[in-house]
Amino acid sequence: MMQRKGIESLSLISFVEENQRNPTRLSSIGNWLQCQEIINRANGTVCGKWRRAPLFEVQADDWECFCGIHWDPYHADCAVPQELETDQVLKQLKYIEMLRPQLTAKPRKSDCNSSGD
Ligand SMILES: [Zn+2]
Repeated sequence: MMQRKGIESLSLISFVEENQRNPTRLSSIGNWLQCQEIINRANGTVCGKWRRAPLFEVQADDWECFCGIHWDPYHADCAVPQELETDQVLKQLKYIEMLRPQLTAKPRKSDCNSSGD
């Protein structure tokens, strides 16, 4: 039997390439961060909604929906429902973690030592 692994990694690569071609388009890939805002101080309920974020944004203990105002103002409010189902978000997060080494690896520039011309 043939292994289908090759196909999988191939689509992974095209996915990354697609994203590098459109670096301004956040919609195709990004990080997801969970809001830590306490929305009910009486019982300590945390908002807990997942929000899209750029890859360079990292989860912090005080990250909240409002932090997304710069890239996703529409969802930058705890009152706005989560964009995707949580299991969809977690699926994407898993995928992103898998892709991250490729996304953050800087392509080697061959002309980096040409200091002057
Ligand atoms: Zn929130």
